[in-house]
Amino acid sequence: MRKTVIIGAGISGLSAAYFLKKDYVILEKNARAGGLCRSFYEDGFTFDCSGHFIHIKDKSVKMFVNKFSGGLDEIERNASIYLRGGFIPYPFQANLYYLDEKIKEECVRGVLNRKETQVSTSMPFIYWSQAMFGKGITKYFMKPYNQKLWSCDLKKMTALWSGAFVPKPDAQEIVKSAYSKNKKSYGYNSVFYYPKRGGCQSLIDGLLKKTEVCLGVKARQIDLKRKNIYASDGQKISFDKIISTQPLTELVNQIQNVPEAVKAASSKLKAASVHCVNIGVKSDAGIPSVLKNRHWVYLPETKFPFYRIGVYSNVNKFSAPKGSYSFYVEYSSSNGKYKNSENAVEDLIKAGFIRREDKIEAVNIVDMPNAYVIFDNNRQASFDIIDGYLKKNGISSVGRYGAWEYSFIEKNIKDAIQAAEIINIS
Ligand SMILES: Cc1cc2nc3c(=O)[nH]c(=O)nc-3n(C[C@H](O)[C@H](O)[C@H](O)COP(=O)(O)OP(=O)(O)OC[C@H]3O[C@@H](n4cnc5c(N)ncnc54)[C@H](O)[C@@H]3O)c2cc1C
Repeated sequence: MRKTVIIGAGISGLSAAYFLKKDYVILEKNARAGGLCRSFYEDGFTFDCSGHFIHIKDKSVKMFVNKFSGGLDEIERNASIYLRGGFIPYPFQANLYYLDEKIKEECVRGVLNRKETQVSTSMPFIYWSQAMFGKGITKYFMKPYNQKLWSCDLKKMTALWSGAFVPKPDAQEIVKSAYSKNKKSYGYNSVFYYPKRGGCQSLIDGLLKKTEVCLGVKARQIDLKRKNIYASDGQKISFDKIISTQPLTELVNQIQNVPEAVKAASSKLKAASVHCVNIGVKSDAGIPSVLKNRHWVYLPETKFPFYRIGVYSNVNKFSAPKGSYSFYVEYSSSNGKYKNSENAVEDLIKAGFIRREDKIEAVNIVDMPNAYVIFDNNRQASFDIIDGYLKKNGISSVGRYGAWEYSFIEKNIKDAIQAAEIINIS
């Protein structure tokens, strides 16, 4: 009997399974389910694949996440930018008050001189930023930070990803923020949610109680003509439909006799990878006061090889044992090499984020190969060619990497529900 095959047991695959009313099987190549929503438990610390803080607008998704994660804390974001030894509340472009006078003046002048009429998200990111926020804000934050995050030429990347991710105060608000403290909160994650216990993995564990996953089984080859999937354990699985949540490029590679145009489109898709160093620190004195209550910090300066750090133990007190604190440190790369990532602890000590006398109790490394999909001029056209071909052949490719997009847990759940519903009514 042919069934739906779900490839991948991350949040997308597990959500699709939960809502699917027809017979299905889930293949997961790793020994553990969860994908990027996995957590790691070491020496009393709970680490995620770098901070996985859940932002949700939709009520029904919130109920779903709350139910399966075992309960959520609602947390008001405390994020900032670390520049020249000082902290500026996030977002930079709405908090110029905290900058020194020279930089502040440059940022204000920049926004007053910007050419607003020319703004379009399909412009190269760097020019979009200058047109949107002015040259000063681009010079001191947008350019150096995004260069580090995306590890690509910002003239070759568009701003098409920026949508909800980059707050866009108007010129008046930006200028006003230079002369008085801005009380307004901005952005999609000004309030976020986090499982009360067990890290992001608790959401996955809740869903795993409702389904069975074939762990350690990779989908290797797909024969669309005979409707068979060949798996790494030797199984031949007959399918009716496929919901794939693996990276789109890998899915294309698995399909036998894939058209040249689809192969060519797939070869144009690019992504930056991320290396996350999780660190647990023991200290009777607690976390250094400069980081007290901070959830995460953006580091645009090139003297730091990482682009962002976050403090798990400030988000959830159960993330670290009593008398300890814990971080994640994120490095990005275009070629899988992460310069100086082995010096994470020493760099944090030099910045004053860890006291030299504090004791490192745990270090855990997570590599994320396709972490940030690059929105260059090829992405949309390539995606459309591949997606059209897959849909014609009964394959729904969803999730952050299945849809080759910059998405997050809430969107992944919504898209997985939609993919399941299409199959339910077919
Ligand atoms: C650095 C970083 C920070 C993030 N922070 C947040 C955040 O704070 N909040 C938020 O909401 N989102 C965040 N995200 C996004 C979030 O991680 C993703 O949106 C979400 O985890 C994607 O889930 P998924 O199931 O679509 O994909 P994945 O988690 O990648 O799951 C895909 C699964 O498929 C499996 N698989 C792959 N190939 C095969 C195969 N051939 N056969 C069988 N199995 C296979 C993989 O092992 C994996 O388990 C972040 C992402 C990154 C990179």
